[in-house]
Amino acid sequence: MAKLHVITYGCQMNEYDSERVAGLLREHRYELTDSEADADLILVNTCAIREKAEDKVFSKLGELRALKARRPELVLGVMGCMAQLQQGIVQKRAPYVDLVFGSPAVARVAELVERARRERRPVLETGEAPLVKITARPPSASRLKAYVTVMEGCEKHCTFCVVPRTRGRERSHPPDAIVDEVRGLVAEGCREVTLLGQTVNAYGRDLTPPTDLAELFRRVNDVDDLARIRFTTSNPYNLTPKLIAAMRDVPKVCEWFHLPLQSGSDAVLDRMNRGYTRAQYLDLIAALRDAVPDIALSTDLIVGFPGETEADFAATLEMVERVQYDNVFAFRYSRRPGTPAAVMPAQIGEDVKAERNARLLAVVTRVTAARSARLAGTAVEVLVDGVSRRNAGELAGRTRCNRVVNFDGGARVAVGDVVTVRVTEALPHSLRATLTTVPEEAVCSSR
Ligand code: SAM
Repeated sequence: MAKLHVITYGCQMNEYDSERVAGLLREHRYELTDSEADADLILVNTCAIREKAEDKVFSKLGELRALKARRPELVLGVMGCMAQLQQGIVQKRAPYVDLVFGSPAVARVAELVERARRERRPVLETGEAPLVKITARPPSASRLKAYVTVMEGCEKHCTFCVVPRTRGRERSHPPDAIVDEVRGLVAEGCREVTLLGQTVNAYGRDLTPPTDLAELFRRVNDVDDLARIRFTTSNPYNLTPKLIAAMRDVPKVCEWFHLPLQSGSDAVLDRMNRGYTRAQYLDLIAALRDAVPDIALSTDLIVGFPGETEADFAATLEMVERVQYDNVFAFRYSRRPGTPAAVMPAQIGEDVKAERNARLLAVVTRVTAARSARLAGTAVEVLVDGVSRRNAGELAGRTRCNRVVNFDGGARVAVGDVVTVRVTEALPHSLRATLTTVPEEAVCSSR
């Protein structure tokens, strides 16, 4: 068999696509290798969300150039969002790249690789293509937890974001195809699925008949032997009372919710074209906590968006305090070519962005540590997913509210088990716990 090495940058959707590509190529006699030097084919799956992500890819391609010079028969491919966005520019800047293709062409990867190998001239494939559900996975893929893409694309047109250009219009996979994929994963030992979409809570609007994420939760919940359902990423604009009720009522849906805020300032939210105000966002948080009191909340925040004043930034800090997030992903605004925000006046200097980012992280560290601390002494449900990174004699897993837990499982607990533990120590980034023999009411446990 020929050898394939895949390098993945970016989000969970890219991880999912990399797995599909490895699964499809396996059917064409490519097996995965961890070693770049051994590979006959190297695919770099790219992210274009921020300039830094693109810089990383070009620097990696620079490294691979030497390998390609030593072994000209090596096929080097660039796939994913940056390929779709930059198109011919990738091969202009890195002419030794044989193949460039965007996410719509993933289903045709074997044919494209073969073309690049046979024709020995650059292949570029970044056109639109019909949505195809690909379920192929390499044998090495994680068995216990899996991503399942339920929709592609985004139509929100946030003024900072390239995703509508890299991933196209919103297109949902039919519920039957998704349920079949989940059943197949569970048959191979999967216990937790994360349903993926760029705006996953807009799922189903484009289908005939239309459906929604709440209905999909119920369908996926019915899959026997699946323990947990997660989903990401949601947009506040599409968060409906029906979905909040489903988060309360569908037993396998975990008490963990990622809801990007981006900014705490109404003026900035408006310029970002987010479609909600801070008051509306706070109303959603109140409704969520009312329905699911122990829900863990995480968010994305951008600092230094064009025109962001000190008062706008203070409003973002204030939202972190007010919402009491369990986790925050903070990003410095990155000017993306072709987006409306890139040409807005009053671009913020990198020094100001760095300073605001540091101040934001200080508040985030305090708030998220306090959220972790409140779990001390409580009983929590854990899906055991491996051995503790710090102590090979201990097991590790995640709570339903997505915190890492390390505990001594004795000889009674195995990877894949769902157990209840009592938290003995709540550290900022993980919990220590002891196994409880009698399952109890937990702060974030199965309902
Ligand atoms: N679709 C989701 C939403 O907007 O609600 C998020 C998807 S995006 C892939 C992940 C995060 O990257 C965004 O939530 C945003 O915080 C950040 N991001 C996107 N474009 C950015 C930019 N130009 N500069 C800095 N951060 C950016």
